[in-house]
Amino acid sequence: MNGCVFCKIIKKEIPAKIVYEDEEILGFCDANPQSPVHILIVPKKHIEDLTKIDEGDLALMGKIFGAIKKIAEEKHLESGFRVVINTKESAGQSVFHIHFHLMSGRNFHWPPG
Ligand code: 5GP
Ligand code: ZN
Repeated sequence: MNGCVFCKIIKKEIPAKIVYEDEEILGFCDANPQSPVHILIVPKKHIEDLTKIDEGDLALMGKIFGAIKKIAEEKHLESGFRVVINTKESAGQSVFHIHFHLMSGRNFHWPPG
């Protein structure tokens, strides 16, 4: 989608440190990491947020969890990690292309702030 920063990363129009790629999914390091490991996993299809997924996207969402599992194994995150999907501005979403934050390397609090 025009103007979407994650679509530009997917099209390699702007650089990112890519850690995972397949036909439908891209994983890359967050530019402003909030933990020692902070990776964003996105579908290559532009979907604005979690409320915009439809029945036809459910398999893709499942594949994203498969990609997260693979990345977690490769990065040796067996001691623990957190996966976050901020949805809408009030929840902290700032880029409106659905993305899964994979965070690890420090202790996380619950409930989150
Ligand atoms: P949100 O706040 O929408 O849940 O998360 C968006 C994330 O995207 C933020 O953690 C932010 O640091 C990251 N981000 C924003 N622009 C870029 C960019 O151009 N490149 C990369 N690698 N990350 C970005
Ligand atoms: Zn996009």
